Amino acid sequence: MPELPEVETMKRVLEPQLTGRTIRDVTVNRPEVIAHPATETFSEILAGQTFSAMERRGKFLLFLLESGDRIVLHLRMTGCILLAPNEFPMEAHTHAVFHLDGGLELRFSDTRRFGRLWLIRAGETDAFSGIAKLGPEPFDSVLSGPYLKARLGTRKKAVKECLMDQGVLAGIGNIYSDEILFAARIHPARPARDLSPGEWERLAAAIPERLSYFIEKDRLTAEEYLETKGKEYRNGPYLQVYGHEGDPCPLCGERLCRRVIGGRSSVFCPGCQKE
Ligand SMILES: [Zn+2]
Repeated sequence: MPELPEVETMKRVLEPQLTGRTIRDVTVNRPEVIAHPATETFSEILAGQTFSAMERRGKFLLFLLESGDRIVLHLRMTGCILLAPNEFPMEAHTHAVFHLDGGLELRFSDTRRFGRLWLIRAGETDAFSGIAKLGPEPFDSVLSGPYLKARLGTRKKAVKECLMDQGVLAGIGNIYSDEILFAARIHPARPARDLSPGEWERLAAAIPERLSYFIEKDRLTAEEYLETKGKEYRNGPYLQVYGHEGDPCPLCGERLCRRVIGGRSSVFCPGCQKE
């Protein structure tokens, strides 16, 4: 599943190409991917509209339109959004196509079909997509040791699970929670309520530091993005623990361990991250 750095990359790649482009019409092959409003209404309202900007909020992508309307997209597990020339081969499982001026198409494909699109009208409250329930962005100045302690410090749940709670902090998933906890030298299975103020501080510092690092590493051109269908796992070579079970820890050399925490696979160093 794309997490904050990957979704930020999509925003950075697509925004300059989309801004000023007009939607001629929309083809929806699988109505269930349009979560709001009804598919026909979705297509009708969007025809003739022009993109003005893009935003990212947590793992959501927002396509802003000149009218003040906006399209909200969550890719979930296997969703993919591509801006391609009309003649570019169509991905399998393409469920929605926005036909644009200039011979381009914005295409949404999704093998597992959990990804969703919403259209929110200008002035309409978005009570549909879940964005309203998100906690702050990890780069928001509100993020601090005391903030994390106040929101999570009484929970019995593993700190890794708490980090993935989108209502506390938006954008962190399974991969980057492992990387952040390794950087902060905190064992992923520790109950959140057992963390010391100093550990909350380390965590608060590691979150924006790691995410900025991976956003930078994830940089690519529009051509590279299209070539790899936006799917290539670009941060793989830079991950220190995720996917490295059994490898030596890059800091202390001890073998990295894997454990299932809250139903999610987690990799950590038993030497650097004491339980
Ligand atoms: Zn280590």
